[in-house]
Amino acid sequence: MSQKRKHEIACPFCGREQTVELWDALNADEDPGLREELVAGRINRVECVGCRKGFRVDKPLVYRDVEQDLFIHYDPLLGARALPDVEKAFREGVAELNRLLPPDVEPPDAHLVVEWSELVERLFLLEEGLDARLVEHVKYLMYRQNPDQLPADKKNLLFDAQDSTDEQLCFVVQDRATHKLEAVLNFARADYEALVNVFDSGDQLALLEEQFPGPYYNGRLRFLQDQAEED
Ligand SMILES: [Zn+2]
Repeated sequence: MSQKRKHEIACPFCGREQTVELWDALNADEDPGLREELVAGRINRVECVGCRKGFRVDKPLVYRDVEQDLFIHYDPLLGARALPDVEKAFREGVAELNRLLPPDVEPPDAHLVVEWSELVERLFLLEEGLDARLVEHVKYLMYRQNPDQLPADKKNLLFDAQDSTDEQLCFVVQDRATHKLEAVLNFARADYEALVNVFDSGDQLALLEEQFPGPYYNGRLRFLQDQAEED
């Protein structure tokens, strides 16, 4: 069920405290319009009653589409929460949810994202039928192949469904500091399909699972970790 609640917030520009209604959960089955709102960047965006400036309030949000088996939990790293805390809470939440399901109901394939851009990206990616872990592996390869053009500490790679074709998977380079979209890099879909086949077998799949144990998959962070270990 889609759910909205009142929250007390302070405007990041003028500091004015105010009560706003924010979404906790979006259920695209019941409210297809909410998917469009999310993709258009309008979910949890408010306008300050004082200075009239608009901004998005970062808070946890669940996106659900039962029909398409989509379950994405956006849990931003707010305050002192670090990634291991968020992953632990996610694992516990999923275990609890699965425990409550009737035995004949298949548990949803739950995804964890921690940045807003990842939420929309993951939605597109899953709707395209792509494997999230494999796409992060592809990003890992792209960071490794383009160290100068694509410094992993400064640039995000985001899957771009709209500009992808039957031949190419399209990725946009985003600067992490300015959030500006700067360039487009392609990855041949045939190469992606080849990877799907490679990781289809047990031994190879185990390697991918070792590279991305989850529940949070991030090729950029994985690359930075490996790079730090190699230095
Ligand atoms: Zn304000």
